[in-house]
Amino acid sequence: MTARLLDGQKLSVQLQAEIRPAVAAFTARVGQPPGLAIVLVGNDPASEVYVRNKVRSGQDVGFRVDLERLPATVTLTEVLDTVARLNADDRYDGILVQSPLPAALGRGAEQRVFDAIAVGKDVDGFSPESVGLLVQNRAAIAAGTPSGVIELLEREGIPIAGRHAVVIGRSDIVGKPMALLLLHRHATVTICHSKSVDLPALCRQADILVAAVGRAGLVTPDFVKPGATVIDVGINRVTDRAEAERVLGTGHPRFKVFEEKGSVLVGDVHPSVAEVAGALTPVPGGVGPLTIAMLMRNTLAAAGARHPA
Ligand code: NDP
Repeated sequence: MTARLLDGQKLSVQLQAEIRPAVAAFTARVGQPPGLAIVLVGNDPASEVYVRNKVRSGQDVGFRVDLERLPATVTLTEVLDTVARLNADDRYDGILVQSPLPAALGRGAEQRVFDAIAVGKDVDGFSPESVGLLVQNRAAIAAGTPSGVIELLEREGIPIAGRHAVVIGRSDIVGKPMALLLLHRHATVTICHSKSVDLPALCRQADILVAAVGRAGLVTPDFVKPGATVIDVGINRVTDRAEAERVLGTGHPRFKVFEEKGSVLVGDVHPSVAEVAGALTPVPGGVGPLTIAMLMRNTLAAAGARHPA
């Protein structure tokens, strides 16, 4: 079997096209476009890329997008003051603080910053109140990455209700909200993590297997029930040649990327899984672009809730 590729890039373009007319209608009605404030602390190279894409996508659908850059030397109080100022600023319907924050801000800094974002403007869905609403299946907004996965499954006609979904990873931003969103759509859900015993056997039970681990090529064909849908959330930068060979093999087209650049982005799922799975998301071009499209949708939803018709 060769898995059907689930094209997240194509769906993200479609989602943005669907959002654009609603943004135009909002802007005409309210007199200002939906506003998104993005806070970037420091200059982590991966964050720079993510933020650039978010700014571009937001502007592309017609939002006002403002980037607040803070130096890596900023104090936690200054970050919290920035969030408080954005909370009070009526031009912004959504606030996003790019993760990770510099380690120098201290342990727990990220949580304190997420906690400070007004729930109505929490377009990432990371605040405790947003998470609580998600647990109770009352959330208007949920984290972008797992929401994007659900959107992809539904639009691709992959049934969720009654199916066994296995999620590898229990982070607050991906694994846990992913499991909840699947549960609310009536999947039977197993959550695995680094202490799970016999991970391949647990994963082989899955009709839908979601890998959100951050380990290049961890999921190999022995993790996958033939015909299962496999969603690869992982984004891992491989810089070691032996690792690139293990994950991609020298014949893989993306191995050429490694040879040219000295690094390559790969998922948590080994490419050989395509021989066993029924459907599979590629990396890149799978879940990544959907995360941004769902952020746009969340911002529009937050704007609509703040300015009801
Ligand atoms: P975290 O590091 O926060 O969480 C990783 C999870 O994987 C943890 O629950 C950890 O278990 C578990 N884990 C680690 N090693 C193993 C193992 N060997 N076996 C089983 N479970 C393991 O990562 P994130 O959730 O933030 O991100 C996961 C991946 O998704 C990363 O590659 C990240 O880059 C990517 N990502 C992609 C996005 C996108 O837009 N496509 C958005 C966000 C993330 P434990 O809890 O026991 O430590």
